[in-house]
Amino acid sequence: MTQLGQLPVAVIGAGPVGLAAAAHLADRGIPFVVLEAGESPAAAVRQWGHVRLFSPWRYNIDAAAARLLIDAGWVRPDDDKLPTGAQLAAEYLQPLADLPALKPHVRYDARVVAVTRLGLDRLRSAGRAEAPYLIRLANGEDVLARTVIDAAGTWDTPNVLGAAGIAAHGESEAQACVESALPDVPGRDRDRFEGQRVLVVGAGHSAANTLLYLTELPGTTVTWAIRAASPARTYGGESADALPARGLLGSRLREHVESGTITLLTGFSVQAVSAGPAGVEVSDGARSVTVDRIVSATGFRPDHGIVSELRLDLDPVMGSTRALAPLIDPNEHSCGTVPPHGVDELTHPEPGYYAIGSKSYGRAPTFLMATGYEQARSVVAAIDGDWAAARDVQLDLPETGVCSSNVPLDADSITAEAGGCCGAPAEAELVAAGRGLATGVSGGLVRAPLTVITAPAGQQEQTGGCCS
Ligand SMILES: Cc1cc2nc3c(=O)[nH]c(=O)nc-3n(C[C@H](O)[C@H](O)[C@H](O)COP(=O)(O)OP(=O)(O)OC[C@H]3O[C@@H](n4cnc5c(N)ncnc54)[C@H](O)[C@@H]3O)c2cc1C
Repeated sequence: MTQLGQLPVAVIGAGPVGLAAAAHLADRGIPFVVLEAGESPAAAVRQWGHVRLFSPWRYNIDAAAARLLIDAGWVRPDDDKLPTGAQLAAEYLQPLADLPALKPHVRYDARVVAVTRLGLDRLRSAGRAEAPYLIRLANGEDVLARTVIDAAGTWDTPNVLGAAGIAAHGESEAQACVESALPDVPGRDRDRFEGQRVLVVGAGHSAANTLLYLTELPGTTVTWAIRAASPARTYGGESADALPARGLLGSRLREHVESGTITLLTGFSVQAVSAGPAGVEVSDGARSVTVDRIVSATGFRPDHGIVSELRLDLDPVMGSTRALAPLIDPNEHSCGTVPPHGVDELTHPEPGYYAIGSKSYGRAPTFLMATGYEQARSVVAAIDGDWAAARDVQLDLPETGVCSSNVPLDADSITAEAGGCCGAPAEAELVAAGRGLATGVSGGLVRAPLTVITAPAGQQEQTGGCCS
C-alpha cells in the first residue's frame, strides 16, 4: 500500500499560478510534480503573447518565485513596466521553470485527463482521505499524488457565441468563420482580418483589445456586439483606474465608438449564425449583421470534467467554491475590490484537492495573477501544516476605478468577462494614443461617422465574400 506522505504534491498546469505553487513547494522543501499539457511553461500565456498586460511587473511576480530566481542571479524586470504575455513567459516564467529547484519536477506534454482517488470512485467514503490521488494523463500513464493543486486555468475552454451559454444555431457549422478570443491581429493572424468585415462579440478586455487592434488595419470594417444595453462596464474606470493601461483601454475604445470607427450593437444576444456566399450572418432574432469573420470574445469557463470523480462543493453560479463565490461575484466586486482569500475559501469536501489561479474563479472574470499568487502561498502553507501562515492572507490589489455600486452589471458583462483582466494594447499604441485622447489625437486613425445601433433595426445586410 502506497503511503500518502511519500507521494509528491501534484500541480496541474505550469502557468503563472501553477509555477508559483511550485516555487512555494520548493521553498518549503515539499516534494512535487508539475504536470503541464503544453511543451513549455506558460503554454496558455504564450498564446496571447502579443497582448500587453495592464498590470505592471510588480503585480505579476510571485514573492517565493522572485526569491528563488534572485538567488540564482536573475535580474528582476522594472516593476513599473508592462510586459507582453510573451515577455512574461520569456523573462519570468521560463527562467522560473528552468531553475534547478523546479526543472526536474516539471513535466511537459503531460495533459491531465482525469483525477480520482486510487481505487475509489466518488461514491466510496471508507478510507477516502488516506487514498492517494490517481491522476491519469492523456498518454494513459497514471501518476499518484498526496495532494492536487489544480492550476489548469480556463484558456482551453472558451465560452460559446450563443447568448444562452450553449452554441448559437449554426455556430458549429460556421466554425471556419469564428475565431476564439485574442487572435494576433497585428501579427501572425493579420491576413485573416485586413480588409475584412469583422464582428467582435463580447464585453470584456479581450474584446476591447481585439477591437483596438482591428481599428488599425486598413480597409477593415469593425462591428462590436454586446448583450448589455450600454458599454459603460467595458469602458471601466478609465482615468480613475489604478492601472493606467487598463483605464486607457476603455478610454480608447470609447473614443473609437464615439467617432464611428467601431460600430456598436448594444442589446445584441447572438442566437443564430449562418455562413453563405455573402458572408456569415449573425442574428439576435430581430437584427442581423453580415461579416467575413467573427471574433468570439465571450469569456472562459473552467473545465471541471477532469475532476468529476472528486467531491467538489461548487457554487451553482460561479463554478468556484461556494465560499469563494460571494467574494468574487462580479455583481459585487471589481478586480480591485475582491477581498483577500486563501486556503479556507478554496477547500472542497475532497480533502487535499485545491483549484487555484484563474480556474478557482470559475466563470467570474475578475481574476488577477496577484490573487493567484496569494492563493498558492496560502494553500502550500496549509499543505505544510503551517496554518498561521496559511490563514495570514494579505492582498493589495489595484482598484479598477469602477465597481458595481456605480455601474450596473448585466448578464452580458458577467459572461463576457467585463471588469476582467485580459490585456491591454501594445505599449507603442498606448504612447501613440496616450493622453492625446483628451485633445482629440487618435493615434493617426481614420475615423468614420458615429454609428451606435441601440435598438432592433431589422435586417442590416452587407454583401461581400465568405470566409469559408
Ligand atoms: C489576454 C489576457 C491578459 C491578461 N492580463 C492580465 C494582467 O494584465 N494582469 C493580471 O493580473 N492578470 C491578467 N490576466 C488574467 C490571468 O492572470 C491570466 O490568465 C493568467 O495567465 C492566469 O494564470 P493561471 O496560471 O491561473 O492559468 P493559465 O495561465 O491559463 O495557465 C494554465 C496552464 O495549465 C495548462 N493546462 C490546462 N489544462 C491542463 C491539463 N488538463 N493538464 C495539464 N496542464 C493543463 C495550460 O497549458 C497552462 O499552461 C490576463 C488574461 C488574459 C487571457
